Amino acid sequence: MESRGYKASHALRMLRQLYAANGRDARSSVRMPAGLNELVHATFSPQTASLALRQVAADGTSKLLLRLADGRTVESVLMPDFHPARAAGCISSQVGCAMGCDFCATTQTGFERNLTAGEIVEQFIQLRGEALAAGRTLRTVVFMGMGEPMLNLRNVLAAVQRMADPTLGALGWRQITISTVGIVPGIDSLTEADLGVHLALSLHAPDDATRADLLPMGRRFDVRDVLAAADRYQARSGRITTIQYCLLEGVNDSLAQARDLSRLLAGRPMRVNLLRYNPTGLSLRGRSYAPSSMEKTDAFLGELRAHGTVAHLRRARGSDIDAACGQLRRQTAESTPAER
Ligand code: SF4
Repeated sequence: MESRGYKASHALRMLRQLYAANGRDARSSVRMPAGLNELVHATFSPQTASLALRQVAADGTSKLLLRLADGRTVESVLMPDFHPARAAGCISSQVGCAMGCDFCATTQTGFERNLTAGEIVEQFIQLRGEALAAGRTLRTVVFMGMGEPMLNLRNVLAAVQRMADPTLGALGWRQITISTVGIVPGIDSLTEADLGVHLALSLHAPDDATRADLLPMGRRFDVRDVLAAADRYQARSGRITTIQYCLLEGVNDSLAQARDLSRLLAGRPMRVNLLRYNPTGLSLRGRSYAPSSMEKTDAFLGELRAHGTVAHLRRARGSDIDAACGQLRRQTAESTPAER
């Protein structure tokens, strides 16, 4: 700003204009020196990604495949809330993923690169526009799309700062959730960052053997250490950690496993989000996972609650589109250019 003859304080006003106002064009409401808006918009591109594909499910969930400046693609999802005026966004932190979780479609196309902070924020801005077009406000953002956020934490935190810094006015810290497959040093770095965002931990099994079979990272960080790291985060941030648990038929959905999970969480003020698996075809190791039946799901939920665990069943979203993480991108990569 100074090199162009403006005051440095105009930078913050310009950023507020870009990030706040819930995506509506704030140019009319923020007073700027003559010519500054035009200069900024002529100098910087407000957008570097383009929409490669968009799918909308019957339940209103919309999934965007964004093409980045280097031609690679990432997925972002907008999910309507029960509240008719609100929506939640799910964004990606990496192109592809190296974590190798057996049931996940993203990892099947491998890891390509980390997203920049700008590319992460751009997904937020795209989803915010998508929400506005649907008559809703984007109220929460979860880092549960492609990639492991803890392995790109520097850029994830830079993006979170832009989305949730109160001086910029787009969201608040509490409106953001960072999810992890259980990278202990990453959780500790997040604790050190002390931003007050929510933490979600993908546990998926109460014992090390089942967990390590599903998530290779489970061999490196055992359940006890991962939960201890979440305890430290919770103690520092005061935020309740969410335990993500995707129910797979015959793998992790027995009543004994529900009781083991309750035992693990006893005395920990954490809550469990049960998810029903969204089938993605053959797994990384050629297995065919199936979602637990509704009866088994209800029984698992009941057993958790009977043992004093706070637990909820998350609604499946967009099951009539490729809404599981990585599906749309994989399907697009497999199709011919003519089909696309
Ligand atoms: S579930 Fe998440 S961490 Fe695991 S492979 Fe898929 S994108 Fe990566």
